[in-house]
Amino acid sequence: MSIDFSKYIASYPDFPEPGILFRDISPLLEDGEAYRAATDQIVKFAQDRNVEMIVGPEARGFIVGCPVAYKLGVGFSPARKKNKLPGETIEASYGLEYGKSSLYLRTNAVKPGQRVLVTDDLLATGGTIDATIRLVEKLGGIVVGTAFLIELTELKGREKVKDYDFFTLLKY
Ligand code: AMP
Repeated sequence: MSIDFSKYIASYPDFPEPGILFRDISPLLEDGEAYRAATDQIVKFAQDRNVEMIVGPEARGFIVGCPVAYKLGVGFSPARKKNKLPGETIEASYGLEYGKSSLYLRTNAVKPGQRVLVTDDLLATGGTIDATIRLVEKLGGIVVGTAFLIELTELKGREKVKDYDFFTLLKY
């Protein structure tokens, strides 16, 4: 039986600021069957690419990537914001609407040559995923795929990940 996943995405106009239509994955996460079915699709995508490691950005990239890592029996390393990761880290910065931000990854998170899947809940402009990919590649990892629950096609984030295999559950 196929699931209409769009039923499990809530839309909130003007959140967290005016002009943004926020696509909330919470109802999907709160439904065990839908969350598992969505995860299974990403597991299949990852298995087809022999994924050995998963990296996802704070915070919803963890929610998408961790159950896939568990199912595959591979590791997951979180890409986090400033001052969240102890020990030696590397940094990648990316542009926001106003100013910029950075993500960090543990220096030992990925081994050179390791086949890595990068996950997040939603692809908008692509800045977040692009920074995450750069972190993995700085460590010598091979990004064999990017996986999302939602792609906002109008924002053209796909152009930032055009060189990588791509999975999305839903498009808006
Ligand atoms: P971007 O870097 O522009 O691709 O933005 C992607 C990140 O911002 C993801 O981690 C999303 O969780 C979040 N995000 C951006 N736009 C939205 C939106 N309209 N609804 C929900 N989350 C969003």
